[in-house]
Amino acid sequence: MKVELEADKCVASGQCVLAAMDVFDQDDDGIAILLAEQPAAEHLDGVREAVAVCPAAAIRLVDQ
Ligand code: SF4
Repeated sequence: MKVELEADKCVASGQCVLAAMDVFDQDDDGIAILLAEQPAAEHLDGVREAVAVCPAAAIRLVDQ
């Protein structure tokens, strides 16, 4: 599974970091940064939560 982040959509809410801090971080402006494009299996539930809670619909989890 691969994570896709559209940073230009990000509204810096930080919900993704709360859901999966091993996969997402935020820059100095609060814009999300992808730490792991292909996260380990144990982090996928957190990524799915981040996809669900992101208010900007800026995150996708896609099959490869
Ligand atoms: S949850 Fe969405 S809008 Fe909020 S910081 Fe993460 S990517 Fe940006």
